[in-house]
Amino acid sequence: MDMDAFFAAVELRDHPEWRGQPLIVGGDPSGRGVVSTCSYEARKFGVHSAMPAAQAVKLCPQALFVRPRMARYAEISEQVMAIFRRHTPRVEQVSLDEAYLDVTAYRFGTQDPAMIASLIKQNVQAVTHLSASAGVAPNMFLAKVASDMQKPDGLTVVRPDKVDEFLRDLPIRKIPGVGPVTEARLARMGLLKIDDLLQAGELFLHERFGKLGIFLFHRALGQDDRQVEPVSEARQVSTEETFERDVLDVRFLSGKLQAYAAEVFEVLHERGREGRTLVLKVKYFDFEQITRSQTLERFPVSAEEVAAVAIELLKRKTKAGKKPIRLIGLGISGLRPLSTEPVVWQQGELFAGN
Ligand SMILES: [Mg+2]
Repeated sequence: MDMDAFFAAVELRDHPEWRGQPLIVGGDPSGRGVVSTCSYEARKFGVHSAMPAAQAVKLCPQALFVRPRMARYAEISEQVMAIFRRHTPRVEQVSLDEAYLDVTAYRFGTQDPAMIASLIKQNVQAVTHLSASAGVAPNMFLAKVASDMQKPDGLTVVRPDKVDEFLRDLPIRKIPGVGPVTEARLARMGLLKIDDLLQAGELFLHERFGKLGIFLFHRALGQDDRQVEPVSEARQVSTEETFERDVLDVRFLSGKLQAYAAEVFEVLHERGREGRTLVLKVKYFDFEQITRSQTLERFPVSAEEVAAVAIELLKRKTKAGKKPIRLIGLGISGLRPLSTEPVVWQQGELFAGN
């Protein structure tokens, strides 16, 4: 299940006077903000999410531009997820507005999954006055692709015996995980549609693309082994920032990482969680994006510890200082409930202020 243009839809619902106008939710268009979500009216002008806000304004100068209100979206997201969970306990939330629902053991006894999806859509509409799109399919990959097919307010069903027919003529970029770079590489080999992947064969794809090739072949067959994992909370706490200007100064970046470490560590502890995998995200000026992660042997007990590892990753595993950086982010994953064991202070640490 996927809410339609969620942030924009919430804004239009909360501000009926804005209806009918193109609406863009995003960062500062005079700086380096990006578009989070835009209404379907704005999409007609070629605006889409993740586009630089400045470009969006050029494409659609008449659009209303509003800053995201994350707290508000989170509040409505909770209502939506609660509706999902009323229908099945097996809900895997992947973002504020998207979740996988496993309804194989449907609690109200209905056999028809399309009817279940339609019912859930109606419930969401009645409670939130927002529309959602549903994809009903034998696995998560197919459900995701299907949910995207008839937006907004869509309901697409892929029966197990119709998988091949459903996938065959779709462009390869419809496979989640295939970005513009992979798409271009495949296109140069004449591989455009999902069926082209099947024709090329597993061996060919493996030779040219390694693991990615195997992944693509299995997806082209409509396969996905993942199970819906009910998780009621984020699996990672993170923060990131796009800078006003590209940054080469490693000291500046290290200072930022110290601040992010403090923020992320604090949020995590407020939620009664701790984690020991640190994830550093870097986007360079040319939009090349990398993530570097490190799993620590023990759970860090201070923000300083997190910052030290993050800075080490920045210096040793990225091109910081050599290639201008546009965005950095820091996250902690590998979460568990905060240990209730007493923290053993190292000598000296307790009196660090003296
Ligand atoms: Mg959505």
